Amino acid sequence: MTGPADSTNRTTASEGTWQPVADGIYRLVAEPDSVTIGLIVGSESALLIDCGSTPEQGARLRQSVANVTDKPLRGVVITHEDRDHWFGLAAFDDLESYGHETLTQRIDAPETLAEAERLGLTRADLRTPTQDFSIARALDLGDRYVELVHLGHAHTHSDVVVNVPQSKVLFAGDLIENPHPWFGPASSPRGWPATLNMMIGMVQSDAIVVPGHGDIVDAQFIVQTLASMASVPYETERLVHAGVKFEDAAEQGEWPLPWENIAEGVRTAYAEMSAQGVTRRLPLV
Ligand SMILES: [Zn+2]
Repeated sequence: MTGPADSTNRTTASEGTWQPVADGIYRLVAEPDSVTIGLIVGSESALLIDCGSTPEQGARLRQSVANVTDKPLRGVVITHEDRDHWFGLAAFDDLESYGHETLTQRIDAPETLAEAERLGLTRADLRTPTQDFSIARALDLGDRYVELVHLGHAHTHSDVVVNVPQSKVLFAGDLIENPHPWFGPASSPRGWPATLNMMIGMVQSDAIVVPGHGDIVDAQFIVQTLASMASVPYETERLVHAGVKFEDAAEQGEWPLPWENIAEGVRTAYAEMSAQGVTRRLPLV
């Protein structure tokens, strides 16, 4: 999730303390976007998941790792292109960083640069990962493997989930948020449910799922999110066939999630159907 940034973000930035998720796995919440930062500690090295909104915040997060382990930090995984997960990467210039290959294009996108400017940052403050990949990477932290997997275009083009199979812990990025997912302009209403379907196949029924925002959930929560998300494109299709315009969709639709969370997704679904030439369907009788 990222709502609009404003200039107060720099002064309200703060980080909580590391909370245990499972043995050797931690999370903390960084403000101002209440983003979850993850930490996986193996017998040889540790891995950070996401790095905050600014290089200053990234530096504080890096320093805080020493509060829970003396293992060296080997790198950072970026779960996607939203500022609160990515813009702190410059604090890790001497380490490896891992992210989806589309981040390389996103760094020069007008939306990315405008977002940086609102935070008082410039292009020179942003970084792309040193190691990018298209589908999957596996990292060895000593006594445990970590899987980095891109399941497709969903919340953004660059979504990566971080799976620790031995510990039955999955960091879901913003593919899962608690209580509700948030559609941005880059989200895919049809792609997102498909990725959740694959995510369900990645985890066991007793897995711990760490959302990009909000408290920890279980595997069943993925199923619930999938059920809600899958209805968005279908309800949009029903409205289009009934001749309801996007401007009236909030009132006329039956939505399983708060409108503000899904408005951008419904807008995209309308645009996709319009591009496909799908219009009002007249009653046959
Ligand atoms: Zn987010």
